[in-house]
Amino acid sequence: MTYETSFSQVPFVYEALPTRVVFGSGTRSALPAEVERLGIARALILHGQSHAAVHRELKQALGERYAGAFDGARMHTPVDVTETAMKRVAELNIDGIVAVGGGSTTGLAKAIALRTDLPQVVLPTTYAGSEMTPILGQTHDGIKTTQRSLKVLPEVVIYDVDLTMDLPTGLSGVSGMNAMAHAVEALYAREANPVICALALQSVRALARALPAIGADPGNRQARTDALYGAWLAGICLGSVGMALHHKLCHTLGGSFDLPHAQTHALVLPHALAYNAPAVPQVMAQLCDALGVERDAPAALQAINRAIGAPAGLAALGMPQEGITRAVERVLANPYWNPRALARDGLTQLITDAFRGAEPRTYR
Ligand code: NAD
Repeated sequence: MTYETSFSQVPFVYEALPTRVVFGSGTRSALPAEVERLGIARALILHGQSHAAVHRELKQALGERYAGAFDGARMHTPVDVTETAMKRVAELNIDGIVAVGGGSTTGLAKAIALRTDLPQVVLPTTYAGSEMTPILGQTHDGIKTTQRSLKVLPEVVIYDVDLTMDLPTGLSGVSGMNAMAHAVEALYAREANPVICALALQSVRALARALPAIGADPGNRQARTDALYGAWLAGICLGSVGMALHHKLCHTLGGSFDLPHAQTHALVLPHALAYNAPAVPQVMAQLCDALGVERDAPAALQAINRAIGAPAGLAALGMPQEGITRAVERVLANPYWNPRALARDGLTQLITDAFRGAEPRTYR
C-alpha cells in the first residue's frame, strides 16, 4: 500500500506573525486593559467619520490614557493625510495608537507606526484583513507603493463582532469577498504551506456560509461572527504568503481607474480563479470542498456575489471600456509570480468578463 502525506507542500517555511488577538462580542471592553498592557499612557484614537459614537465610547473607557483623535483617514493611505495626522501625533505627544474602522483607518495607523514605531491596537469594522499584515500601501501623487515591515504590524487586534453589525449589507458582502480573495490566493501562493492552507480553507468555509446569510439578514449575529472569524484567518493568509494574479489585477484596476477596493475584489475573483484553475487542479478540488459544491469553484464564488448583491460588473463601478486593453498592458509590463503564465488573450478575456459581470468561463 502506498502512503501519501496529507499535504503537498514539502519542504516549506512557516513564519508566525506576533499579533495578540482578542475575539468575540463586546470585546472592545478589553481596550483599557490592552492599552495598559502595552504601557500606553497617551493614546491617539483614529476613527472613520461613521464611528464618531464609538470614538466617544472608547474615549470614555480610556479615561486619562486618551490624548486625542483624528478622523481624516482615506482609502489607499494618501501620504498628505498621513503628514497631517503626524502633526497631530507631535502636538499631542502620544505614545500609542488606537484605530477603529475599516482598512483605510488601519492603513493610517500603520503609516504612523512606520514613521514612529508606536504600538497599535486595532479594532476592525470591515473584513479587509489589513490589521493582520505587516504590509502597508501608500499613495503619493496618485502612485501607490507597497512595502513590508514588522513596524506596521499591529501589536493587538480586538475583533468585536458588535462593531460590524452596522456595516451596510452591500459593503459587508463585498468586503467579505475581499477576505475570500486573500484565502483563495493563499492556497496557490508560491510560499504556500500546510498551516496557512489549513487556515485558508477554514476561512473559505466560514465566509462561504456567512456572506449569503448576511445578505439575507444583516442582523444575523452568528453569521457576522463567522464572517469576522473568516476575515481574521484570511488576514493571516494575506500577511504570511505572497498573493498572485487576482491581487495584482485588483491593484492595477483600482489604481488605474479609481475603483472601490472591496467591490473590485469581489467582481474580479471568480474570473481570476477561473484563469488560474487549469494550473492548480488540487487547489480547485479543496476549494470545491470548502465551498460545499461538487465542481466549478469560480461559479460558486459568482453565486455568492449574486447572493450578496455585488455590483453587476466593473463597468457598473465606472471603469471605461477602453481601460481593458490599458489594464492588460500594465499587468504584462510588470510581470510577477503566478501559478499560470500570464497570456495577453487570456487576460483580456478575464478582464472583459469581469467588466461585463459575465459568468466565469472555462480556460484550458
Ligand atoms: P474602508 O476602510 O475605506 O471602509 C469603507 C467604507 O465603509 C468607509 O466609508 C467607512 O467609513 C465605512 N465603514 C467601515 N466600517 C463600517 C461599519 N462597521 N459601519 C458602517 N460603515 C463602515 O474600506 P476597506 O475595504 O475596509 O479597506 C480598504 C483599504 O484597506 C484600501 O486602502 C486597501 O488598500 C487597504 N487594505 C490594506 C491591506 C494591507 O494588508 N495593507 C489589506 C486589505 C486592505
